[in-house]
Amino acid sequence: MADAGSEPWSRSSANRSELRAGRFNRRQTPYQESRSRMLLLGSHLSVAGGLHLAVEAADELGIQALQVFTANQRQWQPKPPTEESIEAFKNALARSGVKFVVSHASYLINLATADPANRGKSIEAMRAEIDRCDALGIKHCVVHPGAHLGAGEEEAIARIADALDEIYEAIPKSKVRTLLETTAGQGTCIGHRFEHLGDIIKAANCKKHLGVCLDTCHMHAAGYDLCTEGGYEKTMRSLVRCVGKTRIRCIHLNDSKTPFASRKDRHEHIGQGTIGDDAFRFIINDPRFEGLPSILETEKGENEKAANLDKINLARLRKLAN
Ligand SMILES: [Zn+2]
Ligand SMILES: [Zn+2]
Repeated sequence: MADAGSEPWSRSSANRSELRAGRFNRRQTPYQESRSRMLLLGSHLSVAGGLHLAVEAADELGIQALQVFTANQRQWQPKPPTEESIEAFKNALARSGVKFVVSHASYLINLATADPANRGKSIEAMRAEIDRCDALGIKHCVVHPGAHLGAGEEEAIARIADALDEIYEAIPKSKVRTLLETTAGQGTCIGHRFEHLGDIIKAANCKKHLGVCLDTCHMHAAGYDLCTEGGYEKTMRSLVRCVGKTRIRCIHLNDSKTPFASRKDRHEHIGQGTIGDDAFRFIINDPRFEGLPSILETEKGENEKAANLDKINLARLRKLAN
C-alpha cells in the first residue's frame, strides 16, 4: 500500500536495525543491502493526459519517489483537478510501488516580492497549490523561495516568512509541508545560501509546515562544493547547521551544465556535467540522507539509441551506491 506522504526518516531506522540484526546475508544479497542504504530514487514526470499517468510511468521506471506539477505551472489560476482525476490518481498510487509524492509549485510564484499585486497573486497561487496537494493526498510541495528584485535579502526573507504565515493561517488544517528549495542564485533569487532558508524558517510562525529541498545543481552553481570529499562534508555540515537535519525532506539530483559558482540554473544528466559522479556517490551513500526521496529533474525522452534518459540516469545512480 503506497502512501503519498510517508515519512522518509521512519523507514531508514527500520533498515538500519535490519542491517544490525544481520538479516541481509552479505554474499547472497549485496544488491538489497546496498539499495536499503540508498536514497529513495525518483523523477519529475509529466502529468500530460492525467495525474495517474505519472504514477504509471514511475512504476515503469521502477522508482519509488515521484514529483509532479499538480496543475499547469505556467498559469496563475489553473483549473483544480476534477473529482475523477483525484480518484484516478489515488487509485493508481494505491496499486503502485511509489511511496513518496511531492509537487513542485509554479515558477510564477514569488513570495519575496514587494509589489502588492504580484504578492497577492503569489500568495493566492501558493495557497491554491497547497489545496490541490491536500485534495490529492500529497504531503510535500517544493517552492522556490522567491526573488527580492532589488529590495535586499533581509527584507525578502521577512516577506517570505510573512507570506507563508498568511497562507497557512488561511488553511491551518493543511497536511502539506512546504519545502523551500536551495537555488542557484540567479539574479536576485533568495535561497542560494543555506542561511536564507534557515532564517525564513526561524522567522515564520508556521514552522511545523516548513522544510527544505536540496538541489545538487543549484548548490554547485551557488558555490557549494559537492565534488571533493572534504568539500562535500563541509557543505553538508553547514547545511545541517543552518536548517536542521529533520527539515531536509527531499533532494533533487541534477548535474550542472554550467561551472561551479556560476549562479546559473542549467540541469545536466547525472555524471555528464560539471558536478560529475563523485558528488552523487557521496550523497547517495550519505547515511544522513538514507531513505530520503531524491528526484531527477534532468531532460526526459530518449537518446540517439532510443534508450530512456531517466533509465540511464537511474542506472548510473544505482551503480554509485556502495
Ligand atoms: Zn525547483
Ligand atoms: Zn530542483
